[in-house]
Amino acid sequence: MRNANYKFQVKACILQLAACSFFLASCVLHLATASAVHAFFVEAQGLKTTSALKIIVIDPGHGGEDTGAIGPSGVKEKDINLEIAKKLEKLILQKMDVKVILTRTDDTFIPLEQRSAIANKSKADLFISIHANAAYRKGASGVETYFLSFDATDEDAKRAADFENAIVSISNKKQDNKNADDLKSILMDMAQTEFLNESSQLAEIIQENLCQTMRRKNRGIKQAPFIVLAGAAMPAVLVEVGFISNAKEEKRLALPQTQEIIAAAIFKGIIKFEDILRSKMGYALE
Ligand SMILES: [Zn+2]
Repeated sequence: MRNANYKFQVKACILQLAACSFFLASCVLHLATASAVHAFFVEAQGLKTTSALKIIVIDPGHGGEDTGAIGPSGVKEKDINLEIAKKLEKLILQKMDVKVILTRTDDTFIPLEQRSAIANKSKADLFISIHANAAYRKGASGVETYFLSFDATDEDAKRAADFENAIVSISNKKQDNKNADDLKSILMDMAQTEFLNESSQLAEIIQENLCQTMRRKNRGIKQAPFIVLAGAAMPAVLVEVGFISNAKEEKRLALPQTQEIIAAAIFKGIIKFEDILRSKMGYALE
């Protein structure tokens, strides 16, 4: 009798264990299904996932009386920069849960210092200045991405910074000739110093994506004393998307398709940079 009772208890125990395992398995299955369904709906409806970035400032270089470089057939750098910036804004707004601010949305002149001030005031997480290059050498081509330093990487980098900084003389007629001391004082109290590591990382990622996507000559990541970057209190880069002084590149840069490709490459760079930020900040990757 005792033996039969014992057997009965063992059977009941096994049954309970089986029921328990079944319950656990169905829980796991339920969770997996729920997350797959969630992922499906996020994908299907194009819903945006929480971003480690909240505000991105895009700075279309030049504007208004400051045309920037002008190509052999008259294409103006300021127009190309604005088109790319708007396309990049659209992409970010479509795919990320992030606020985007453009330093200019039309053909308006904005002084260099005001551009980083806009980013600081809005407490932006990223500052991306978009430009097109110019060189005396007509055949010069390719893309390069800059982050800030007081000394330029090479002569070409110095020339690029001199060209972009020359706008100061239009914005402030009293300071017609920015000499080395003026520049030094601007750069001395630069807010950018503590973000140089992240800026170099962002520059590297954007440059890599631009070169891969555009299959253009990789002129590398460079550093130079750009006033527009100096005051930015967040990771900040300046992208030279091609040489408008090169007739072939000028033609290509004026095409909306090329502008889309450039915007998409920069966007990819932002996404990759955001992934790095997420893992640094301990965000759960979705
Ligand atoms: Zn420029």
